[in-house]
Amino acid sequence: MGMLHYLKPYDGTVFDNCEHKEIKYTYKRGGGEKKCWSCYIEKEFMTKKETLCSIIDDDGCFKRMYINAVLYDFCDDPADYYTWGGRTRYVRCFNNALIAKGVEWFAYIKFYEVGDSVVKPLSAGKSGVIGAPRQTGGKKKGLPDIYFSKEPGHGPSRLFLSDTKLNVKWYMKYILVVPASTEKEALEFEADIMKNYLLFGS
Ligand SMILES: [Zn+2]
Repeated sequence: MGMLHYLKPYDGTVFDNCEHKEIKYTYKRGGGEKKCWSCYIEKEFMTKKETLCSIIDDDGCFKRMYINAVLYDFCDDPADYYTWGGRTRYVRCFNNALIAKGVEWFAYIKFYEVGDSVVKPLSAGKSGVIGAPRQTGGKKKGLPDIYFSKEPGHGPSRLFLSDTKLNVKWYMKYILVVPASTEKEALEFEADIMKNYLLFGS
C-alpha cells in the first residue's frame, strides 16, 4: 500500500544526528516524520528484533496475531525458487495450493536475509487467488500479484535490497500467508501487519 509510505528524492531538509554526507532519499511512514532514508534503514529498520523464528511458532503459525497464518514454502523445491518471478510455474503452484486450502484473499509477509543466516520480515502485502470474489463485484482474474523484483525504482523494499553495503537479499524459501475472509479484511490485515512489524508495503 504505497499511500502509507513516502520515499522521495532528497529535498534539502536538514536532519538532526544524520552523518550521511550524501542523502539521496527521504522516507516517511504514514503518520510519522520525514527522515533521512539511510538513517531510517540503519537506526530503525535494520535494528528491529523480529526475525522469521521470532514471529513463527513450531507449527509454522504466526505467533502474535492471526493464528490461521501459515508459512508457505515454495513448492518444496528450493533449488528453483528463484524462478518464481521469471516464470509462472511457482506462483501458479502457490495459487493452487492456497485454493486447495480454501484461501481466497490473504495478507502476506515477505522476508529478507542478512548475510547468510538471519531472516527478517521485510514487507507486507495483500493479494488473492484466481477467482477470488472482488470487493467491487466480479472475480479476480490473475494469479497472486506477488513479485520478487530487485529494481530499486520499485519502492522502499527494493531500494533497501539494492544497497550492497547492507548485505541483504530476498529470502525466498518462505512467504507467510494470512488468510482473510474477504478482500476488505485482507487489506485490513495488511495495514495491521505493516504497522505492527514496521514493514514496507509491497
Ligand atoms: Zn542520515
